[in-house]
Amino acid sequence: MKNILPPWLSPHINKFDKQFFHHAYLISGRSGVGKNMLASYLSRMILCNSEDNRLCGTCQGCKLAENNNHPDFHCLTVLDDKKLIGISQIQGLISKLYESPFLAKNKVVIIPNLEKLSIDGLNAILKILEEPPKDTYFFLTSNFLNQVPLTIQSRCFDIKIGAPNKELALEWLSDFSEEEGMLALNLTNNLPLLAKELLEKNILNEREQFIKEISSIIKEGKNLILTSEKWIEDKDFLNLKLEWMSKLLCDSIKFNANNQIDNLTIDTDNITKYLAKNADVNNLHNLLSKTNRLWNLFSKDTNLRKDYQLNSLFVDWESSLGISKKI
Ligand SMILES: [Zn+2]
Repeated sequence: MKNILPPWLSPHINKFDKQFFHHAYLISGRSGVGKNMLASYLSRMILCNSEDNRLCGTCQGCKLAENNNHPDFHCLTVLDDKKLIGISQIQGLISKLYESPFLAKNKVVIIPNLEKLSIDGLNAILKILEEPPKDTYFFLTSNFLNQVPLTIQSRCFDIKIGAPNKELALEWLSDFSEEEGMLALNLTNNLPLLAKELLEKNILNEREQFIKEISSIIKEGKNLILTSEKWIEDKDFLNLKLEWMSKLLCDSIKFNANNQIDNLTIDTDNITKYLAKNADVNNLHNLLSKTNRLWNLFSKDTNLRKDYQLNSLFVDWESSLGISKKI
């Protein structure tokens, strides 16, 4: 983990003083905005042995934390074979928290994504926050602040992180061309961490292919079975492509209602405008709910034949939007 924070997160650090940390912080904001990065940075400030109000980067505490090897640092995440953070994990944590710190004066706990805790888990955490162990600091993060019980919110110092403005986000993505950065931000609704992931995994190629395939379905009614088989095989991108399909419909519905709108997804704006002009708006709404329903289904473990489901969605798209039949 680098010691440099993205420019939209650094102002948050200036509010902290090493000597006066609150015992629990709740960092909230949308996924991809940098909540865990900030939590990790603040944790390392606490574990740094330097007296200065900064992260020295050279002391034993900093070195161990940088290598994810600090004995007084704990992070609760979902185990590989589980869907939620289990109560046994929290009990394991509690037993460590009431021991003296190994190295530093302090102990730090990060719990990313509070939504990954069961009700029992949340209650157990609340109990710890009500009687916090000595010299222990908590950083909890959540994508959905309104789902965090008020009892937990009221015991934490609240930090909200909004999406940064485009200039700052582009500056942070400067390893890539401005055009690529703009497109990636546009596709992720200005969430820079997600945009970076998209660029690093070369997803823009995938996107280009997606546009060709979806145009071919709409314009020519071609390759429905072939495309659905290909998408199912390439399962890493399946749900993302369904999201892109939804976005295309949403953009078309928005443009249909207001053709002055200026925040359409840039690389599909010609398809969007075509659909807004030529497709029946009720069809667009129907397709949107069908597409979202499939996204939901595919997000869960399902025994359904995904290829049939996806092919049937393509058939619906083609028959509602396709221009091949109208010629
Ligand atoms: Zn240090």
